Amino acid sequence: MKHGMKKLKKLRMFHDENSKDEVLPVKEALGDVFGIETTEVIHFEAKTVKGAYNANREQYDASILLSYLIKDKNRGAKESSLSLWMVSDDIYVKGMNFVFGVAQPGKAAILSIHRLDSLDLIKKEAIHELGHVFGLQHCTNYCVMQFSNSLYEARMKPDRLCNKCSTLLRLRVQKAPEF
Ligand SMILES: [Zn+2]
Ligand SMILES: [Zn+2]
Repeated sequence: MKHGMKKLKKLRMFHDENSKDEVLPVKEALGDVFGIETTEVIHFEAKTVKGAYNANREQYDASILLSYLIKDKNRGAKESSLSLWMVSDDIYVKGMNFVFGVAQPGKAAILSIHRLDSLDLIKKEAIHELGHVFGLQHCTNYCVMQFSNSLYEARMKPDRLCNKCSTLLRLRVQKAPEF
């Protein structure tokens, strides 16, 4: 921690039975990029969230999972924190066939590893979603914040923030009370 910088909120990481092996490498990647410390690792299955599973689509509604994560799972937290839930199920939002993840700035994100076929891609998309949690938007530079809705697009982008997003991140982290 550099002198004079404010202390970041901590990260709570949630995972399910089939995403537990990815917790450690993802946690390290997020620490590298954002300087965030993961204080809790919690096992939690999407199937226990009522109404989240869409049997016709055989997918989970990411918006329902995200609001559940924000409202219910944060209740027991000792201190105000940010959350990332890595699920192994396929997820969607209305209007899209699937998504790799969804996020609410200042709060939490869901990442689905279902379609991501390598650990590098999982780390990359986790960085992307946490970038959204830190208030970053989609970016058209060569940058991890590029939008991707296919494996091809996910593979083509780097696993780091561009200069513009790094600067935005620094400013936000220093000024915004939600981090
Ligand atoms: Zn995005
Ligand atoms: Zn960028």
